[in-house]
Amino acid sequence: MPEPPFQLVDGFGRLHDSLRISVTDRCNIRCSYCMPEKDVHFFDRSEVLSFEEIERFARIAVSLGVNKLRLTGGEPLVRKDLPVLVSKLAALEGVKDLALTTNGVLLAEQARALYDAGLRRLNIHLDTLDRQRFLEITRRDELHRVLAGIDAALACGFGPIKINAVAVKGLVEPDIVPLARFGRERGIEIRYIEFMPLDAQGLWDRGRVLVAAEILRMLSEGIGPLEVVPDPDPRAPALEYRFADGIGGVGFIASVSRPFCLNCNRIRITSDGMLRYCLFALEETDVKSLLRGGASDEEIRRLVGQVVSAKWLGHEINTAKFVAPPRPMYSIGG
Ligand code: SAM
Ligand code: SF4
Repeated sequence: MPEPPFQLVDGFGRLHDSLRISVTDRCNIRCSYCMPEKDVHFFDRSEVLSFEEIERFARIAVSLGVNKLRLTGGEPLVRKDLPVLVSKLAALEGVKDLALTTNGVLLAEQARALYDAGLRRLNIHLDTLDRQRFLEITRRDELHRVLAGIDAALACGFGPIKINAVAVKGLVEPDIVPLARFGRERGIEIRYIEFMPLDAQGLWDRGRVLVAAEILRMLSEGIGPLEVVPDPDPRAPALEYRFADGIGGVGFIASVSRPFCLNCNRIRITSDGMLRYCLFALEETDVKSLLRGGASDEEIRRLVGQVVSAKWLGHEINTAKFVAPPRPMYSIGG
């Protein structure tokens, strides 16, 4: 296929070819590092982009060189008829990679329809295999449904499946090794994600981040030595390791201890149609008004180009200047 006529390159020379699409800010569980327990304000349905609007925006992004799409939320599987959107996006010419991030609660019911709609890559969020701790972390007793979702996804043939586990110090230490064993038994990579300052309740504190180096130490003591996997794609955010015995591996999204901003290739659109050049951005650009206001594709394309041009170098979590964005993770789309 010929290269697209335009490319999204920012002021630091970073090429942007990845778009994360949040399809809802609603969720069926309440992870404490993401959502408040109650009184969550969700967008009115009229504020949320329709499938047609998402498809149009994705098509415009693809015409600018985006070739990777990931659906997220909130919990994307609570959005009615999600497989309909998946099939629209899978059909876009130029999309090389279509993936979904889910908490897995509704996956057993939807895995087959999602697979048949063209989805192949799944990240399933699971922090613990312990029912009590799952309840403590998510405030919902849904572990059995997530496990059933993982089984269903494996049975459908999704691949690769990865498990996202958020690494919060003082909370998940007992789960680090059991999760890695679970992954080794099933051919699933566990991705430990350092706790980021994007929680709705402002609980984040540097001292509550279970950093990649600490997890690596726990894994090598609990299971066995690991070795670095040389990364074929230097722009991929995860640090990859494999167990020296040849059985499986783990990854780390070390946003706090090893920020990967210099390699960033992502833009995001929120469920209410705001374009963001970074998870941590303090500003965002209203695309919904253009989509709904009769703007041409060319006008929207120009706006996306401007947003990427204005992108900052990085999030500066590790400096005194850092300011957490006003929107929490579930509202941005992690
Ligand atoms: N509901 C889906 C889920 O949980 O996977 C998709 C949305 S969720 C916001 C996306 C990912 O963000 C989750 O997989 C979880 O690992 C991660 N996450 C949520 N809050 C986080 C935080 N404060 N720090 C780091 N990762 C977080
Ligand atoms: Fe829901 Fe995902 Fe946030 Fe957990 S991390 S509350 S599953 S949106």
